[in-house]
Amino acid sequence: AASSNGSGDERELRAPICCILGHVDAGKTKLLDCIRGTRVQEGEAGGITQHIGATYLPVENIRERTSLKSEVTIKVPGLLVIDTPGHESFSKMRSRGVSLCDIALVVVDITRGLEKQTIESLHLLKRHNVRFIVAMNKVDRLYGWKSCPNTPILEALKNQSDDVRSEYKWRLTEVITQFKENGFNTAPYYKNKKMKRVFNIVPTSAKSDSGEGVPDLLMLLVRWVPEIMIDKLAFNNSVECTILEVNGDKDLGTTIDVVLINGALHQGDQVIVCTKQGPVTTIIRDLLTPQPMKELKAKGVYKHHKEVRAAHGVKIVAPGLQHAMAGTSLIAVKPGDDLRQAETAAMQEMILTISAADENKNRTAAEEVSRVKSCKEGLYVQASSIGTLEAIIDHLKSSNVDIPVSDWNLGPVNKQDVMKATAMLNRKEEYAAILAFDVKVMHEASVLAAESGVRIFMADTVYKLVDSYAEHINGLKEAKKMQCAAEAVFPCTLKILPNRVYHNKDPIVCDVEILEGVLKVGTPICVSVPSKDRSESIPSKGRSENIIHSLGRISSIKTSNGNQILSARNGVVSIKIMGDNPHEKSRSFGRHFDANNELLSQISRKSIDVLKEYYRDEMTDENWQLIRRLKKQFKIA
Ligand code: GDP
Repeated sequence: AASSNGSGDERELRAPICCILGHVDAGKTKLLDCIRGTRVQEGEAGGITQHIGATYLPVENIRERTSLKSEVTIKVPGLLVIDTPGHESFSKMRSRGVSLCDIALVVVDITRGLEKQTIESLHLLKRHNVRFIVAMNKVDRLYGWKSCPNTPILEALKNQSDDVRSEYKWRLTEVITQFKENGFNTAPYYKNKKMKRVFNIVPTSAKSDSGEGVPDLLMLLVRWVPEIMIDKLAFNNSVECTILEVNGDKDLGTTIDVVLINGALHQGDQVIVCTKQGPVTTIIRDLLTPQPMKELKAKGVYKHHKEVRAAHGVKIVAPGLQHAMAGTSLIAVKPGDDLRQAETAAMQEMILTISAADENKNRTAAEEVSRVKSCKEGLYVQASSIGTLEAIIDHLKSSNVDIPVSDWNLGPVNKQDVMKATAMLNRKEEYAAILAFDVKVMHEASVLAAESGVRIFMADTVYKLVDSYAEHINGLKEAKKMQCAAEAVFPCTLKILPNRVYHNKDPIVCDVEILEGVLKVGTPICVSVPSKDRSESIPSKGRSENIIHSLGRISSIKTSNGNQILSARNGVVSIKIMGDNPHEKSRSFGRHFDANNELLSQISRKSIDVLKEYYRDEMTDENWQLIRRLKKQFKIA
């Protein structure tokens, strides 16, 4: 085995891959901007980063910015930073980003300490066994902070007043304590004597004109990280590569953005990508990288390469990539490899990737994605990558309405997608919809959708997308609710006040006390009377059978002072019950029933279903209990 860690190790190393995690608003995007000297944060939709992008920082650039002397050796050729979105709903994308990283930056706002997503990120890292550096960001928020742009943090701290330094100290202690409470030992990196076991904290400011501590971060990333994981960073000839995004380009056709984790890719290499329809083997036509320091997805002039060596973010131009799936591996076929075998292996790996279980939850969105097909009723989701697809499905699941997904696809919305979505028109109309995120809708597709009645939803964030759909189905529900209003029967039990029966048969007019539930105008009312026991000589042991007499519907409710009301939940009210079937014999008070017999709302299977579907929010737990009791009484299954 090759010697590791020794200073004499001459192996070629690849750039470490780093991702940035943390709670929303901790400053991940800003810090990323600082690290690469770009301004992405301002341009994002809703301020949320929605794609994994990758930025390569060549070592010369880092040297310059950390003012490292030329004698100081840096063993890695650069640093590849994956831009992971931080919002909660993207946890699945985060998971994917994390799994290909060597090291993570966990950004913590010094004024807020550890927050929900910080802690989630820590667990995620622990699960994937990824080490991290804590960027304790926003030090410029310490009261009275004097800005020292782009200086190493110790130097910047020296320039501060005693007050600032003492606030810094107690906030630092606080953060260390919080880490401790979550099971992690941390220390400011400049005091950390046990870097292999104790996680480093680097105080930073990512504010545009500050940048304190950023040189320290870069230093740790390119000097300390290779120290502790030299074996992992050893350049290896076998290609390890993950697809981040599949893109359509006017000039280039379909291209894929990948992270090349290890190995090298060349023009002319034979590679396999996986699609829902099966493996696609193709030849790399061109390899493009953005200019250094620019984000891979940012538009700009590309550099063409005959060869790209890991680690790098690279755009691959090749025929047949239309159905490649983001989040899966790209497999390089070596001369002499059995192509069939390689294709089978690639597909198996893809299925594993998609259904890989996240130990944290019983069923993950990834599994959900692969399971989705078996769900018969649900809407159609179309996204640009597996990651965003997962984010949408996750968000749909966690939204108040819990919306199922019946099918999905990646890439532009085509006629075929709309065709598939039309299947729901006859099943569940509200699901005849396509949620399209970050994909084009082809003209024919939108024409067909308009003709057939399939709704296509689009928005620039996952949240808005799901919200606009939820709003749509709420509207549909509201309309259906109106249609079903007559069939909704709220449960109630009423006691007739014996001396206050003003008309004893249709319409019955009397005063009642509301014993349970809610009394509404329109509610069908019945009375339950014990059947006459015919064999009077035998004392009845069990409960005698009850007979239900329908009396009609409540046509009005009046309070004691004569006010007409539509519903009441307690007290004594005056009611009128109108028979609603002229062919039925009317039942009269005093003859068929009396004040000892309770009046009940006459529920049915259908009325319960209507309540469940449309009136949940108006029903209390007690109301449901009463429904259960009445159900038994009426022998409803
Ligand atoms: P993200 O959600 O973690 O990506 O956070 P952003 O990078 O979008 O930052 C959230 C907000 O905090 C923005 O208004 C930033 O301008 C601000 N911010 C980020 N880093 C710093 C910092 O170091 N100092 C100060 N004062 N503000 C910061």
